[in-house]
Formats: sequence, C-alpha cells, structure tokens
Amino acid sequence: MDIYIKQWNDLILYCSFDNTYKMAWSKALVELTVNTNESIKDIVKLDFHDIARLCLKYYWNQTIFFDLIQSSNMKKPPEIISSTRSLITLYFNKKQSEQPIRFEKIDFYSIGLALEFELTVKNIVRTLKQDVCWRFKNLNRETYEIYDLDRNKGKVFLNKNDVITLKEHSDFLFTIINYRWTQMLEGFNHSPRISRKVRAIDDNNIKRTSLKKFHQHLDLIFEDGKRKCFYCGENIADSEISVDHVIPWSYMFSDDLWNLVYCHKGENSEKSNRLPSEEDITRLEVRNKLLLDRMQNNNKDYDQLQIAVEKDYVKKFWISFKG
Ligand SMILES: [Zn+2]
Repeated sequence: MDIYIKQWNDLILYCSFDNTYKMAWSKALVELTVNTNESIKDIVKLDFHDIARLCLKYYWNQTIFFDLIQSSNMKKPPEIISSTRSLITLYFNKKQSEQPIRFEKIDFYSIGLALEFELTVKNIVRTLKQDVCWRFKNLNRETYEIYDLDRNKGKVFLNKNDVITLKEHSDFLFTIINYRWTQMLEGFNHSPRISRKVRAIDDNNIKRTSLKKFHQHLDLIFEDGKRKCFYCGENIADSEISVDHVIPWSYMFSDDLWNLVYCHKGENSEKSNRLPSEEDITRLEVRNKLLLDRMQNNNKDYDQLQIAVEKDYVKKFWISFKG
C-alpha cells in the first residue's frame, strides 16, 4: 500500500473515539480533494467552512432519516450533533411537516433559514478547530503529518502529490471510513441494519415513498367508512390522516402492510422513533388477522400479509429490536 494512504488507513481504522467526529472530518477531506482541481497549485488549500458544510450534510442525512446516535454519551450529545438537530427542528417548523429530506436538496437561503444555517456551520467550524482537526492526526502518541493546519485561519494544506494520491484511493478511503463509522454507530445504536443505512445515505437511494397506496387495504378495516386512529381510537378527519409505521421505519427500513396503521398526524411525529408498547404490538397482531380476512386473495400485498401473520413477524421483529 502507498505509504501516505497507509497512514490514512491507520488513522481511520485505529483511532480512538467517543464520538464520530473523526469520521466526518476525514470523509469531508477526502470528498473535498476528490472535487479539487489540483492542476493549478503545488499546495491545495481546503477551507474549514467547506469541511463543516460536508460534516453537516453527513449528520443531517443520518439524523433526519435514521435518527442515528453519534456518541456514547446519551446525556450530553456532541455539540455538532446538537446544532444539526436544532437546524432540523427549525427546518421542520418552517415547513410545518416532518417529512425527511436530503440536505443536498435544501436551499436554506430561499426558505429563510440562511442565518441559522450559517450559524450552524460556524459552530461546526469551531468544534473542528478546537477538537478534531489536530486530534485526527494523532495515533499512539505519534503524529502523522498527512496535512498541515492553520487553525487560526481555518485552513488545511495538502501537497499536490498527496491530493493526487488521495483522489486515486478515494473509493478505498470512503469504504473504510464508512466501515469504521458503522462500527462506531453499532456501539451507540440499537436499531438494526446500520451499515445499510450508512451506505444508503451515500448512495443517495433512500426511498420514502408515499404510503397512500396502502389506503385501499387499510380502509377495509372500517366497515362504516370512518377511519379510526390506531392509537387513540377516535375518528380521523381526512385532513388529519396519516399512515404510521408501528415499528418505526428507522428500524424496519421498509413499508410493510403488516406494520402500517392509520393515526392522527400529530401522534405520528410524537412517537417518532420509539419502539411501541407490547399492548400496541398485540393489537397490531389482532388487526392483521382481521385485515387478512377482509382482503382479496389476489395480490402481492395479501401474500405478504399472509406470510407476516403466519410467521408472526410483528412480535418477532419487535422482540429482536427490543434486544
Ligand atoms: Zn389518534
């Protein structure tokens, strides 16, 4: 292996951690160098603000879609994560909706959150300067001089040759960064399929399609045509209707009829990513049997529901996620 890449490799795979900052930092550096045109200068300068924006992108996407926990300390989340979460909350309030959206698709200026966005980036820059940029270079009391820093000006300097090497090995580096990031997340999170989530965010293939197509089936439960909320039992007005994953989507990572119910819009976001109670699980099992009785035996959704009922997916998934 190239000596320079070997240093990156070791820093990524053997670094100590109590949060995932070093992974966000190194991933942002590699991503920026990939997009650099190194033909101009001998020294390539990277700006902390650009690095911070990429860190925000990673954390935004991992948080808004999967609510991934980024540190071992639940009581005091890392500062970058807290400021990312605050920005997500502001975004939701602005949109009056909690529909997750990729960071890349948002123009914070046009939706009137320019100040808040810049403030978040500034906060991230501060943390990167204080804690991350120099720590990442240290391993076992040794410093790996893979880049130079000007912490006051907020710049990272790389030799032209090193940038070329980084570009050549970027796929490899992204893979081991994601591997190590996943490993850390698995220590902090109990939700399943972490590596798939980390990759899905990179591949830009997280699909959260409309659940409207399930209405035709879910409606079969209500003979009088009045849809009732799975959680509070009250009727739901059309404007208030929402389809909810009883076992949260962030656990299942898919839309399955056996896991979907109607509820009031507010109650949907209230429970967010918590696992349901045993009582809800039992009620869902009963609901699924009734729904299966009422469905026509001639479609894919029926077949899937039948398998789920026969194999008792509801309880099995719930127990396995509860750990
Ligand atoms: Zn309700």
